[in-house]
This record gives sequence, structure tokens and C-alpha cells, in this order.
Amino acid sequence: MTNKAEVLNPVAITGLLVAAMRADESTRPDRLFEDPFAAILAGERGKDALATYRAAVGPSIPIIEVRTRFYDEGLERAADDGIRQVVLVAAGADARAYRLRWHSGTRVFELDQPAVLAYKAAVLAGSEPTCERVPVPVDLAKDFSGALRGAGFDSNRRTAWVVEGLLQYLEEPTVKLLFERIDALSAAGSVVLYDAVGRAALRAPQLQGALTMMKELGAPWIFGSDEPASLLPRWNVQAIDPGDIGRPLGRWPIPAPPPNTPARPLGYLLEARKA
Ligand code: SAM
Repeated sequence: MTNKAEVLNPVAITGLLVAAMRADESTRPDRLFEDPFAAILAGERGKDALATYRAAVGPSIPIIEVRTRFYDEGLERAADDGIRQVVLVAAGADARAYRLRWHSGTRVFELDQPAVLAYKAAVLAGSEPTCERVPVPVDLAKDFSGALRGAGFDSNRRTAWVVEGLLQYLEEPTVKLLFERIDALSAAGSVVLYDAVGRAALRAPQLQGALTMMKELGAPWIFGSDEPASLLPRWNVQAIDPGDIGRPLGRWPIPAPPPNTPARPLGYLLEARKA
């Protein structure tokens, strides 16, 4: 097993980049969360990617930091509601299986590319997860249901799914199939937390630096949607403008749009519940 980031492909490196952002956030006095594993998971490759990102983008909107907080709180709500089965789809360098305080009996499945899960296992060797953690190496562009069930996933139990920072890297038909599979595997009462880049973001002048950097890294953003709730047509979906979470936390540099303006956020955070 290797802990060398060199074996990771460009889209896997994006996971180290966001881990580097979480590492930085964890050092702030006004941090939105604390991730003690982020720095080691990001490693030098993640830190370098963050330096390149900051040089390209300049002072950026803390979307990853606000997003992390949204997912942490969504998982806490699901746990309070009694859900004990969690799937981190495209887990990357997400350390929630190690850093959150899970109820006993919680099982957390982590789906990602085999090389990413091998890297994580090597880097976190010696650290104890705070839940029953089950890594499941898969290609998410293909049908992962068999691998997930084979690893012990029970589709009769309610599940909290986390699809964080993934969709923009996938082709639209792949995104649709991914959500059909999640729906098919979800018992009534399950929850899906996910985020989507708005279509406007793919053309927004203030994001051109980030978009160019991602393209040059080899992980271009290709999927965006202004109707991300439609990915789960029979679910109750709440779509939130990240600014509406970031502003009350004092961490959002863009003022709220005037009332009655047609909303076109650059991105969406979504919480969906299966009836
Ligand atoms: N969810 C994590 C987070 O927010 O920290 C990781 C997000 S990272 C930006 C994107 C992740 O998607 C990477 O870990 C990458 O390996 C994974 N990924 C992208 N395409 C994939 C695929 N076809 N199969 C498995 N994993 C994939």
C-alpha cells in the first residue's frame, strides 16, 4: 500500500485540495468545524494545489468551508433522527468517519476510486475511526450497487447519503444514473445531502480563475444545473443558497440579493428526504 499522492489521478487530487482548505479552516479562531486529519490527508500535494488555486482565484468565497459545515449539520440531523447507515459517495479525503461523534452502531461506507482509498488507508494507518468504517473501492461512473451490498450495505435500512464535491466532475448522464442508483438503494425516510454547481457558475467571470485552474489540473468542471432538485424527482428536496448559510455565520463576502430578485446562485446545497 502506498501513501504517495503521485499515484492519484487529477480528480483525486481535487480531494487533497479541499482537504488543504479544511486544514486551513481548522486553524482559524472563527472556524466552522475542526478537522484534525485534514492536514495529513492533504499532504504536500494538497498544499501545493491550494497555493496554485489561491494564486489563480485570489481571495475566494469560503464555499468549501460553508459546505463542510452544511454536511456536518445534515449528518447530525440524520443521526438525531435515528439513521445509523451512512454512505460517503466519493469520500476522498473526507475524515468524517474519524472526526465526528457517531452514535454506537453507526456504519459508514466510503466509496471512491481504489487508489484514493489505498492512499487514505496508508495515511490514516494508526488512527481509529469513531464508527464502523467500511471502504468500498468503486468506479462511480458504473453501477456500484453490487459492491456496496457486498460490503454489507442494507437497502432496507434508512441511509444518509453524502454526495459532496463530486457532480461537477461527471457527465450529465452519469449524474442522472448515480441518483437513480441512490434512489433504488434507499429505504423510505432516507436522506441525501448533495451539492451542485449552478449553470451560471460555469460562465461566471468571478469563477473563471478557478475553472481554468481545474481544467489545467485535468479535472474540468463539466456538470452544472439550476434545477438540481430534479435529480431526485419523488423526494422532498430543499435547495439552499450557500450564502444563506454563510451570511449568518459572518463568513460570506457577498451581500444577499434584494428581495424578489430571481435567484441564480452560483451553487446549491441540497437536503433531500425520501417520503
Ligand atoms: N467528498 C470529498 C470531499 O468533499 O472532501 C471528496 C471530493 S473531491 C473534490 C472529488 C472526489 O470524487 C475524489 O476523491 C475522486 O476520486 C472522486 N471521484 C470522481 N470521479 C469518480 C469516479 N468515477 N469513481 C470514484 N470516485 C470518483
